[in-house]
Amino acid sequence: MTTRVGIVGAGAAGAGAAYALRGADAEVTILEKSRGVGGRAATRRKNDCRYDHGANYVKDGDERTDSLLRELGDEGLVDVEKPVWIFEGDGEIREGDDDEAHKWTWTEGITQLAKRLLARTDAEVRKGTRVERIAREGAGDGTDSETWTVTDTDGETHGPFDVLLLTPPAPQTTALLEATEWDDERLGTLTDAVAEVEYRTIRTFVLDYDFRESYPWYGAVNVDDDHEVGWLSREECKDGHVPDGESLLVAQMAPDWSAERYDDPLDEAGADAAELVADLLGDERYADPEWVDDQGWRYALPEGGVDDDAVRSAEGAGLFFAGDWTVGEGRVHRALWNSHDVGERIGEGAGGADEN
Ligand SMILES: Cc1cc2nc3c(=O)[nH]c(=O)nc-3n(C[C@H](O)[C@H](O)[C@H](O)COP(=O)(O)OP(=O)(O)OC[C@H]3O[C@@H](n4cnc5c(N)ncnc54)[C@H](O)[C@@H]3O)c2cc1C
Repeated sequence: MTTRVGIVGAGAAGAGAAYALRGADAEVTILEKSRGVGGRAATRRKNDCRYDHGANYVKDGDERTDSLLRELGDEGLVDVEKPVWIFEGDGEIREGDDDEAHKWTWTEGITQLAKRLLARTDAEVRKGTRVERIAREGAGDGTDSETWTVTDTDGETHGPFDVLLLTPPAPQTTALLEATEWDDERLGTLTDAVAEVEYRTIRTFVLDYDFRESYPWYGAVNVDDDHEVGWLSREECKDGHVPDGESLLVAQMAPDWSAERYDDPLDEAGADAAELVADLLGDERYADPEWVDDQGWRYALPEGGVDDDAVRSAEGAGLFFAGDWTVGEGRVHRALWNSHDVGERIGEGAGGADEN
């Protein structure tokens, strides 16, 4: 019998699980609160520029990431060639130990990852659907079997699903578990375990300039957590992202700064961020960008991982979890492969599992 799989979230994890399930006897429905897919691997377009304002690139952590990305099509694939340098509290940008063989994105932006994965599946993606409640219910077919149903914030129900996979960041998954009707003692332990995973907050600023300087680096990362700017990168190093002669900087502010200034108006916080960037680059012109954009990531990067036994305890009841917090590292490829593995486990239960 075809397994009905519901996935909450269409980020790298949600897309990775759907991709792993493409050869299995499964009907996959993805519920995503945003209007697009990709989650924190996000791209925005503005004023002829295109920029990755969440994850900057996909690191090819191992050979399988490299071969998967090529399998998804070489067209538009961008390898950011210049290295990532480092800086400390003193703000001096210097060469670091950039061991990352490739830094992948696409001319169309990093959302291509989820788009390309999903395009190779039959999964139905219901965008603009924010899941609010989950329930475990009798199948209503006279048998003892139970299924999962979810309700969104518009009061619409989705399902029934034989398997439900939750991929939102841990705090959002905790909220869903707290709003779950399931008369089972595993629920409490599970909810407590997921609630323990904390996230760093990052506010990203995108700063556009009508000039372009040359630097030996693509990005610079603060390595001692002692600078207000946590990360600075040059989007013009990605083919197809920034018109010639312009530059577009992505500044991800340090967690403390980001949490404190999270709700400050864009004009004030953006001006302060631009000043800090100008200081860091030792060039006053950067204090006066042509335009500024921003994005707050309340749940940007997990501080650690979750108790694996606890999250796997509900798999027998068809409740699965995946995402960067289940591996304990905020990296696109880690979320993707973790979820791909979970998708394969679900697929094995469904029969006809994919071999990829
Ligand atoms: C500023 C920043 C910079 C980063 N830089 C890098 C980098 O350079 N390289 C790298 O590898 N990683 C980077 N990361 C980390 C990387 O983006 C994440 O680890 C990865 O994208 C996580 O994928 P995910 O699918 O687990 O979660 P997400 O991408 O968060 O996906 C979860 C999805 O669930 C959806 N969702 C949440 N709640 C609900 C709900 N109730 N109902 C329906 N849908 C819901 C969300 O909208 C989202 O689409 C960065 C992250 C940030 C924020």
